[in-house]
Amino acid sequence: MREFAYERSTSAQDAVERLAADPDAQFLGGGTNLVDLMKLGVARPGRLVDVTGLPATIEQNEDGALRIGAAVRNSDLAVDARIRRDHPALSEALLAGASGQLRNMATVGGNLLQRTRCLYFTDVSKPCNKREPGSGCPAREGIHRDLGILGTSEACVATHPSDMAVALAALDATVVVQGRSAQRRLPLSAFYRLPGDDPTRDTTLEHGDLITAVELPAPTELSRSSTYRKARDRASYAFAVGSVAAALVVADGVVTQVRLAFGAVAPMPWRARVAEQAILGGPATEHAFAAAMDLELSAAQPLPDNAFKVDLTRSLGVSTLARLAGIDEQGAQQ
Ligand SMILES: Cc1cc2nc3c(=O)[nH]c(=O)nc-3n(C[C@H](O)[C@H](O)[C@H](O)COP(=O)(O)OP(=O)(O)OC[C@H]3O[C@@H](n4cnc5c(N)ncnc54)[C@H](O)[C@@H]3O)c2cc1C
Repeated sequence: MREFAYERSTSAQDAVERLAADPDAQFLGGGTNLVDLMKLGVARPGRLVDVTGLPATIEQNEDGALRIGAAVRNSDLAVDARIRRDHPALSEALLAGASGQLRNMATVGGNLLQRTRCLYFTDVSKPCNKREPGSGCPAREGIHRDLGILGTSEACVATHPSDMAVALAALDATVVVQGRSAQRRLPLSAFYRLPGDDPTRDTTLEHGDLITAVELPAPTELSRSSTYRKARDRASYAFAVGSVAAALVVADGVVTQVRLAFGAVAPMPWRARVAEQAILGGPATEHAFAAAMDLELSAAQPLPDNAFKVDLTRSLGVSTLARLAGIDEQGAQQ
């Protein structure tokens, strides 16, 4: 591992200034991803600015909207009573991620910015356009079973690994970013970016931009009726092979509100807006949910070994929505 300087920051402004002064510096959250990447030689910062001392509180506005500090630990967020009651998809997604020990270290800011688990990215002996621009992407012809089917490009088929971010996408969360001169608020869809021909950057952040918080809108009937389902190779302690965050409100058999996002299929949490549009205003039936999933997934461009993700995501989506609609496994309304 390359030698590096370590500093603890005392305020958001201080943290941003420290990075502005050093293009070789990086923020450090819980270190559960960055330190691993440093050990592997994938990340080689000369200076780490520890931001875990910045506000780790969950503040509530008068209307019930929540501002979650970037340094809040994943385990604390998962068990917060307001999150469990008003935004259950987020609590469930967090608890489905990693292990108890990791969640005790991992922070909200770090979780959003964790890097892909594509093994060509984490192995410095292999080419990877995301790690080394222009070096190539052997994943298309090589090992891509866990990689993307939506939003990928010729240059990169890596997926974003966070469970938490998928729930945040469905819950219409906003990321608060402190830049050198100003603070800005970015909806998840404007926070992450697709790879195109430059897969090196996962987000729209610039060097020195600090995530200070994530905001969740005031709770509604829709957010309270949300859930997260994750398919993985082992029952615990494994990244998703596919996942779905969904929220649904049904009145008189008709869908009046819906939110849907997929995980482990794209370079970012994939908000399924095409499916949402198809479902909204229609009957709350498995048939309608399946047709909507097919519409969304018609854009999929699977590779030979990950084509199963189309079917997997389709069934996860249909069964999750059906459960929220109160339809039992035989298709009858409960
Ligand atoms: C064995 C294992 C299994 C795992 N399984 C899962 C899983 O199933 N699901 C899942 O979602 N995750 C999983 N993870 C990943 C884990 O959730 C992430 O490593 C963790 O969330 C990263 O948070 P951190 O605070 O440790 O980030 P760090 O490792 O400290 O940082 C990650 C990145 O974020 C940047 N950063 C940190 N804080 C800020 C900030 N405030 N502003 C700007 N930049 C910042 C850092 O510079 C770095 O680039 C697993 C990890 C391991 C090791």
